[in-house]
Amino acid sequence: MLLTVLGFYGGYPYKGIGTSGYLLQDEGKNILIDCGSGVLNELSNYIDPLQLDAVVLSHYHHDHTADLGVLQYNWQLDKENRKHDLLSIYGHSQDFVNYAQLTMEGVSQGIAYNDYEPTMIGSLKFEFLRTIHPVPAYAMRITKNDKSIVYTSDTAYFDGLVDFSKDSELLITDTNFPEDKTGKMWHMTTKQSGELAKAAGVKRLMISHLPQHIDADTMLKESQHYAGSIPTINAFTGLEVEV
Ligand SMILES: [Zn+2]
Ligand SMILES: [Zn+2]
Repeated sequence: MLLTVLGFYGGYPYKGIGTSGYLLQDEGKNILIDCGSGVLNELSNYIDPLQLDAVVLSHYHHDHTADLGVLQYNWQLDKENRKHDLLSIYGHSQDFVNYAQLTMEGVSQGIAYNDYEPTMIGSLKFEFLRTIHPVPAYAMRITKNDKSIVYTSDTAYFDGLVDFSKDSELLITDTNFPEDKTGKMWHMTTKQSGELAKAAGVKRLMISHLPQHIDADTMLKESQHYAGSIPTINAFTGLEVEV
């Protein structure tokens, strides 16, 4: 599996850098995980967006879905070159208004996932875990043979993330706050991300969903401190990780 970061800011794009989006490629399959603001533009630097096999959305906050509508227009307007008759868009069905938007006649088909059975996309197994967030959101564990990538999606810290992330090759965390942040949170701090990686015994940690106004190096240093010996990297556009 090859994962390429297409955008990594939380909340809104800033100075040419987009919000959440990751291209996952495996055996000729192109899967887009989240489709935030700026992601479609960035995706076109790597593949023709008409060559996507599937889109998987963690939740329906705009910083994870802002470019979905224009991606559907791309598929609507360039019919001849698309890889499939319909683009498969996976999302949860806990929010029927947003879920309904995934289906566009002649263009895309919404497919619901759930947290009690895995969803297979090609040879990849997707498992989902409901997170703690103001709207229904799902972390995902993507497994090929015995190797997994875990993406926390947006979430406050909770203990269930440790089991869900256990022994994964790569853990991508929602790290929107520095370690000294206090009060009610819907995202994790650098400390929580680092400690989660350590408790789950993951091979590598990638902090993402980063804040616009705190230096990435500072976020990385703090996370690495709590992750101990686990190699930690901050997400940046174009970063590729092979698992
Ligand atoms: Zn977000
Ligand atoms: Zn969110």
